[in-house]
Amino acid sequence: MTLAEKTLTTRLDELRGDAPTSRHNARTIAALTANPGCARRALLDAAAVDKTVIAQELGFPPKFGQSPFAITRGNSFEAMVKSHGCAELLRLLREELGLTIPEVGYHDLETVGDNATNSVRYQRTKQLLGQALSSGQGTMFDHPMLRLEIAGATAYLEPDVVALQIGGLFHVVEIKSFAIVDGQADPAQVASAARQSAVYVLAMRELLRELGQPPELVAHNSILVCARDFTNRPTAALVDLRKQLAVIGRQLSRLTSIDTLLDLVPPGATFTPGAGLSDTVAAIPSRYAPDCMSSCELAFACRSEARTHGSVDTLGRGVCDDLGGIDNLDTVLALADGTLDPGPEHADIAEMLRRARALRLEVAR
Ligand code: SF4
Repeated sequence: MTLAEKTLTTRLDELRGDAPTSRHNARTIAALTANPGCARRALLDAAAVDKTVIAQELGFPPKFGQSPFAITRGNSFEAMVKSHGCAELLRLLREELGLTIPEVGYHDLETVGDNATNSVRYQRTKQLLGQALSSGQGTMFDHPMLRLEIAGATAYLEPDVVALQIGGLFHVVEIKSFAIVDGQADPAQVASAARQSAVYVLAMRELLRELGQPPELVAHNSILVCARDFTNRPTAALVDLRKQLAVIGRQLSRLTSIDTLLDLVPPGATFTPGAGLSDTVAAIPSRYAPDCMSSCELAFACRSEARTHGSVDTLGRGVCDDLGGIDNLDTVLALADGTLDPGPEHADIAEMLRRARALRLEVAR
């Protein structure tokens, strides 16, 4: 760890305080890139703070998340696919995708001896993938530990996936228990799985770069294993991730550095639950959008804050763009009913708002 990284880690530890932890995973990284301008979320995630606890402390518990039943079902489905050294997975890949997998070497990377720390597991993953590349030996790598730089802070990723070497290329395998019925799955669930797989592909490509190997040795197609027709029987499909890789890679490279964001935090402020938490959260700029409702645990708190401030953010990015930088609802309404004279920069928008208001009044008559 370099001195700069150590300083950053210390600052993030101080910011976290006594807040319960929850580390980054592929879902949080994909969600982070969906709202890259939000400093609040970026800092909470970089400090590995459990946002569900923070939302509860603020009085706005999140109302989404997987049910305990879905989590149990997902875990047992994954265990079944991976049992006996991934025997069922191998059968699927050979019979359903027609992949020629010549020999099988199975490595479980969940622990290294008795040591389960992130950095040791990462080093072991790196060592074994490096050996597999140079020798051609080794096929299945279960629970590899990966790493990704998020705005200058290191996030460890522990995928529920197998890194699979086929013909010299590594493939990410994502196991999900949602159903494929008559060859069709819920597009939203497939898109979400594809975004998560893309994060793993990017992290594996980083690992190959560290090994001095071409990152393209990680395939842009992932293998999605799902339940067939609501049964517990698995089926597999190849998913092309090129679009997701381009979008998430671009968003990650644009995230503002955590160092810079830390400067926004008042001195001594922490996310420790209790008195002072709401002041700390309020002091860090957010960027609420209706999309937050499906992707961030703090959505209800941030929406309430945006409404209290009369922010146009609650209306969505499309409306914000149409309003050309006017960020307050009272200003919008006053321009529309003519009680506020627009400056030259808002003359066009005021004209549009007045016409829209006149039409609305006419329809309501
Ligand atoms: S809900 Fe709040 S913290 Fe989360 S991304 Fe949206 S604005 Fe940021």
